[in-house]
Amino acid sequence: MVVEEITLIGISASPGIGIGDLNSTKYRDTFIVCHYEIAKEAIPAELDRFHEALNVAKDYYVHLSQKIGTISGQEEAKIFEAHHLMLQDPGLIGGVAQFIEKDQCNAEFAFLSVMKKYIAAISSIDDPYMKERQMDLNDVTNRVLESFTLEASSLKQKPESTSEHLLLAKDLTPSDTANMDRDTVKGFATEKGSYTSHTAILARSLGIPAVVGVADLLDKATESTVAIIDGYEGKVIINPTEATIASYQELIEKKKKIYDAACGLKDFDAVTQDGKKIELLANAEFDHEIPGILDVGVKGIGLFRTEFFLLNPMLMPNEDEQFKLYKKFAEQFEDGVTIRTLDAGGDKLPAETLEAPEPNPFLGWRGIRVSLTRRKWFRSQLKAILRASAFGKVSVMFPMISGVREVDSALAILENCKEALDAEGVEYDKDLKVGCMIEVPSAVLLADHLADKVDFFSIGTNDLIQYTVAVDRINPLVANLYDSSHPGVIKLMDMVVQSARKKEVTTSVCGELAGDINLTPLLLGLGVNELSMSAIQVPLVKKAICSLNYGKCRELALECLKMPYSSDIYDKSRKMAAANYREIL
Ligand code: PEP
Ligand code: MG
Repeated sequence: MVVEEITLIGISASPGIGIGDLNSTKYRDTFIVCHYEIAKEAIPAELDRFHEALNVAKDYYVHLSQKIGTISGQEEAKIFEAHHLMLQDPGLIGGVAQFIEKDQCNAEFAFLSVMKKYIAAISSIDDPYMKERQMDLNDVTNRVLESFTLEASSLKQKPESTSEHLLLAKDLTPSDTANMDRDTVKGFATEKGSYTSHTAILARSLGIPAVVGVADLLDKATESTVAIIDGYEGKVIINPTEATIASYQELIEKKKKIYDAACGLKDFDAVTQDGKKIELLANAEFDHEIPGILDVGVKGIGLFRTEFFLLNPMLMPNEDEQFKLYKKFAEQFEDGVTIRTLDAGGDKLPAETLEAPEPNPFLGWRGIRVSLTRRKWFRSQLKAILRASAFGKVSVMFPMISGVREVDSALAILENCKEALDAEGVEYDKDLKVGCMIEVPSAVLLADHLADKVDFFSIGTNDLIQYTVAVDRINPLVANLYDSSHPGVIKLMDMVVQSARKKEVTTSVCGELAGDINLTPLLLGLGVNELSMSAIQVPLVKKAICSLNYGKCRELALECLKMPYSSDIYDKSRKMAAANYREIL
């Protein structure tokens, strides 16, 4: 029988390619426990059983937190501290004890009954973030139920498959992911999940290729067949033909060779053939990324997205905790760190659970709009940033600026924070540089005025594209219209650079476009001074810059600015890229 090759499309959650045997598992979202009555005298013993099970599960999360802390850093470890905290919740413990006493029933049943109420309450909220919290509750429920029958030591050493494989699942909890053995799990794919889920975050930090949100995944895949997980393109290929496997193996080899060769430039600056230097910086979200960033020779952070760290519901970091993290970055990066203030909302986590979902979150309460209405938060973040500036080169940047008034207000609050620190006698960099993201078309049109207020601009192309061409950056139905080389977008970027130049303001690009080597000739030609991207992209972009001639890029950009079609602009830039560094494209 010929088995057909099937390609399933999902969301790319973690880059890389995994090829191997499949191991499918359905996530245990149905809990089965027996229910039996107990004698009144047996209640204290039943309560003891419950507390013992809780302790075993707590130990399990401590163990997991330590394991993931060592591999990925303290930020990821905190995910399991949250699970640990749930198990200490007095409402939960008291509720279960009451249930056992009132119904005179076994502890597993009482525990599950109470947890089901929590799960039902949270699942009635139609919010992707809350869906993630439901996963956490499922996880905790499973662990405690398992703990009734297992000793702590056996939970810690759950048998793992020792041969290399790919994992397919309906969904995975963060602890399932954290428990994966990187040496044997060569990739995973799930039916549920989103790019911002903890599971996806952990996959990236563990370096496991992953694709999430693949519809009908488990129905299409049968156990022990071979598959390919393509974390670059968000594809799962079931029963690949020998030819497909061979082409992917070739691709893996090719990507590795190209990358290793580009890493040879690690200790050199990104300078074009005719001597124009471009600053290459990294985007970062977590401190565990620091070693990987330093490894590729990057000495500065062009965009530190703080929302992932700040919006952890169980552990909202206070000013001191923020200060410690920002200081760590400041001390590690000699070329500096640009810390972006909270950019909640839109496609990211909401700042707060809203009573009614926003009709248009991308046009709603996000970015600087949140900070200017939650000033206490904003002040604590600004003070933490200022304090960190005494320990290295730090700058601050405001997201989603749409008008000059927002910058005025943000600067006034910054001044106010400086005064508070002066009064407390706390040190900070009096010359702290301030910038704003240019990611809303109105900010481009006002760039002349904004340039009077700030020291640098950072073009957020991810949002600038979506707001310019009115295309939701995460909606697959209009993904073909989300166009990086749209002539309207290119014109706006040119306007930003021109306005910045007149006032000696530097211009950086920190959206995904910065890492697209097909468009590096165009970006250089437009005159941007800095590019900031995920660390993994830096070696190839550096290679591209070092192969180009700035004068020729400038001529190319001037021609592109006259072109009406995106495809022509793209082709022109791609042609120059191919002529100068075909081998890495
Ligand atoms: C952008 O919009 O390009 C950007 C860098 O910000 P974010 O992707 O975090 O919205
Ligand atoms: Mg943005």
